[in-house]
Amino acid sequence: MAITKTDFMRGMQCRKMLWLDKHKPGLRIIPPEVQARLDAGNEFGDRAMGMFGPYEEMTVYLPGKQIPDKKAMIQKTQEHLAKGTPVICEAAFSNYNNYCAADILRKTDAGYDLYEVKNAPEVHEQFVRDAGFQYYIISRCGVKIGRVFIVIHGPDEANPFVPQDVTQQAKGYYRWINDNIWDLNRMQKEPEEVAVEPGEQCRCPYECWYYAYCHRETLF
Ligand code: SF4
Repeated sequence: MAITKTDFMRGMQCRKMLWLDKHKPGLRIIPPEVQARLDAGNEFGDRAMGMFGPYEEMTVYLPGKQIPDKKAMIQKTQEHLAKGTPVICEAAFSNYNNYCAADILRKTDAGYDLYEVKNAPEVHEQFVRDAGFQYYIISRCGVKIGRVFIVIHGPDEANPFVPQDVTQQAKGYYRWINDNIWDLNRMQKEPEEVAVEPGEQCRCPYECWYYAYCHRETLF
């Protein structure tokens, strides 16, 4: 695979972060509170799959592993699109090997609406960029996407899934993504470590898991 949604967002925060992900992932230090937040987000995402009632989930694992079988997921998604399945979760797509899996696609008269689920009380711009990346890949695969929503975590725990319409903003990222995805693709394959000076990007929008590695000279 070339660039995934996570690769793209991490590479746009810092190119070196993406390069290290591909070449030296063992250097990551993920703080326990960050891991706990990621786990809670996954759990919220799993619960959200049923927010529209019955659904079909596209997740397929490689035999004997907890690693997604992306090829099988893409194939399964195509089968459900052809069947007109009303709600498809973890719908997987690839365009020139760039890849995304959408949390929820919901069928409409004209195509599908896209839902990106976030375990957060409000919409952040980073979430809209995530949804924009999915729109970019899915639309280039020939699927007509109507509206784009971020599903946030509302205050009512009995019904916490609150969709926010971000269609215009998410679709507006199309050109920005196209302008950067091919450069990130090329850069991540460079054999030499990419040189980037530490700076504001080390903490914004997310604290980097390579912080100790890149700041080792200033820490000791
Ligand atoms: S610590 Fe900073 S410079 Fe190093 S990879 Fe992360 S964001 Fe980039």
